Amino acid sequence: MAKKKINKIGVLTSGGDAPGMNAAIRAVVKTAWHQGLEVYGITRGYNGMIENDIFKFQPGGVSNIIQRGGTILKTARSKEFQTPEGRKKAYENLKKHVIEGLVVIGGDGSFRGAQTFAKEFDIPCVGVPGTIDKDMAGTDSTIGFDTAVNTAVTAIDKIRDTMEAHDRLFVVEVMGRDAGYIAIDSGVSTGAESILIPERKADLPKMINNLTQLGRKNKFVNLIVVTEGDEYGGAEGIKNYIKLSIPSADVKMCILGHIQRGGAPTATDRLLATRLGYHAVQCLIKGTHNVMVGVVKDEMCFTPLDLAVKAQRTISEEWLQIAETLA
Ligand code: ADP
Repeated sequence: MAKKKINKIGVLTSGGDAPGMNAAIRAVVKTAWHQGLEVYGITRGYNGMIENDIFKFQPGGVSNIIQRGGTILKTARSKEFQTPEGRKKAYENLKKHVIEGLVVIGGDGSFRGAQTFAKEFDIPCVGVPGTIDKDMAGTDSTIGFDTAVNTAVTAIDKIRDTMEAHDRLFVVEVMGRDAGYIAIDSGVSTGAESILIPERKADLPKMINNLTQLGRKNKFVNLIVVTEGDEYGGAEGIKNYIKLSIPSADVKMCILGHIQRGGAPTATDRLLATRLGYHAVQCLIKGTHNVMVGVVKDEMCFTPLDLAVKAQRTISEEWLQIAETLA
């Protein structure tokens, strides 16, 4: 069957924001223009599709955004898109604009939505993985992860300065409700003594034992990095546990929170976003539909959306080992 030529595509950002999403939007728009396509921006994720908040990108529309955090298209979570009625409205609005293909920049939830939508209607979708959590199979990294780790490292380095000055024990909470990648990378990079992640049950009695052995003159200088999704209740839970076990310890905590989502994307994230955005458009043109674009061992990798949302990415045993050895 002859490949259907497409003329108009849409692009949206959905779910949790990640630094580098703007670089991906820019790459999609500029690649599409280079190929003679019209590009439509859809605002606030799937909500914009449902509410017909859709505009045609004009020349200059993606100027001066490659270095900016956030997303010029804004992002959102859409309950209505999870209903067949909501998706039908979205489809009808795309039809009004004669949009024939969609680039969805987001995480696995957004891809689940795209997969369902592409099954129900004749709109091919390509997913671009944008999430600071890196918890996606089919790509070695995701847009925003490198920036989030660097933000966490910069903050933790500063915490260590003051921690050492006062001989304190610090519990720092990083993002990653279900994924310990930010914790492992930022913890190893800052020489954390303990790294607690959701994928691995923490041995808290052993941690307390180590602390007590290390403690000199009742000072317990120690840096613990924990994810918000840790089973003990993040930084607050760990702090309380330590205070109960060692009442004399001077324990402070710091929740890094949303600063990890913001800020200028690193060069690594800009490059990844640009490469993935470029290939997402090529996929729509060439008819490689309903895939997630990723980079594995520096090669492009195209994973069917249904596999991308199902496959579980496992945390690196090697890095866990390294973290434990150097703690
Ligand atoms: P992320 O893409 O960052 O993982 P979410 O999990 O919040 O973020 O998903 C973003 C949006 O994708 C949701 O608000 C919803 O509109 C859509 N979505 C998620 N799962 C589904 C689904 N099973 N069917 C339809 N839409 C979905």
